[in-house]
Amino acid sequence: MTSLLITNGHLATLDDANNFVENGSVFIDGDQIVAVGDLDTDSCATDRRIDAGGKLVMPGLINAHHHLYSTFARGFTPPGPPARNFEQNLKNLWWKLDAALDSEDVYYSALLALMDAARAGCTTVIDHHASPSCCDGSLDQVERAFRDVGLSGCLCYEVSDRNKDGEGIEENERYIRKCRDSSDKQMSALFGLHASMTLGDKTLQRCAAAAESLGAGFHVHVAEDQIDVQTTMERHGKNVMERFADFGIPGSKTIFVHGTCLSRAEMDLLHSTDSILVNNPESNMNNGLGVSPILEMLEHGVTVGVGTDGISSHLISQARAMYLHQRAEHRDPTLAFAEACEILLRNNSGICNRLFDEPRGALAAGQLADVVIHDYVPFTPLNAETFYGHLMFGVGFSRVATTIARGRVVVEDGQLPDLDEAAIRARCAERAPGIWARIN
Ligand SMILES: [Zn+2]
Repeated sequence: MTSLLITNGHLATLDDANNFVENGSVFIDGDQIVAVGDLDTDSCATDRRIDAGGKLVMPGLINAHHHLYSTFARGFTPPGPPARNFEQNLKNLWWKLDAALDSEDVYYSALLALMDAARAGCTTVIDHHASPSCCDGSLDQVERAFRDVGLSGCLCYEVSDRNKDGEGIEENERYIRKCRDSSDKQMSALFGLHASMTLGDKTLQRCAAAAESLGAGFHVHVAEDQIDVQTTMERHGKNVMERFADFGIPGSKTIFVHGTCLSRAEMDLLHSTDSILVNNPESNMNNGLGVSPILEMLEHGVTVGVGTDGISSHLISQARAMYLHQRAEHRDPTLAFAEACEILLRNNSGICNRLFDEPRGALAAGQLADVVIHDYVPFTPLNAETFYGHLMFGVGFSRVATTIARGRVVVEDGQLPDLDEAAIRARCAERAPGIWARIN
């Protein structure tokens, strides 16, 4: 076990007391935080010291919904006329890209995106994966990238009937068992589903039975666009959440993603089943979709988280987009600011604490040692009252100096010391033309 002492930091503990400590220290032993605050650092025996130089030190950020497989879409435009709606966007781009990936592409997609995540101060990613040409074993390739970068991950494979009935069920079962039977806690698993509109009753029944026998929650898109709502109503005569409830999909370990077109009754269902709803504002804006009724969901008592949906690996920009999105929608400059910050900093860690055995999201003894030093020295008062303003208008635009994930320094002075970044980028540049050719 290696120990590490961070000194001279401006700590945002984000623990229950929400303490802000100037010239504070964080002592890490192995993969756990053991002491935080005004420590006697001179007498502290440690393998390594990092002087934070008065910079902001806070817990690692969490991404509650990502698609690491989307990385090689960077700069790609599908042939033919531009997609006019959500369904065309899926068919023209995403369902061709995921089919074009081989198992090594899956690894490199995840690797590049996780390197970006680490550099943006993110230490845990909840991913939703698809690669139909190499489905079996693909989650092991994603896991390999997590282990190489050093971040924690919760993985799933998105089952749908779009290529063949029930594709991905066995991969979910295999990977959930693998995580369940492992003593290592870095990775966890959910049962992945694409969306109601691509899942027939037979497949949904098989998934529900498999997940129940494994004690797993689900990770599924819900009412991202009206097409999901309409298709479900036409084929099954009910709304999307009602249909999912019939199969026992909701629950405290189930993540529903988007919920752009949910009714109030469906919000009540999310609340009564203690389910999770993850908003991805930049993705919704990019796709020209509706604005998720996040404030209404909070009023209904729903646990709301925030993710990137593959559009980037940068979390603070998502919280920013979330409150701006709500203010623009409601034409009200008083809305959603604190809510967006709390969703990012409090709710996302609460969600992880349902899905992982190790507690995270605060600088406190007993927490997982996910700690980020932002290259940000405040020039106005930084405390519990002012922190969100610093987060949204300053920290989000500064670079990360140091990211410590599970007690390991994975980013140092903005670089990843354990990885040969130039070689990795060169390998990806070699692979990209082949992937693009297969999409076309
Ligand atoms: Zn998604």
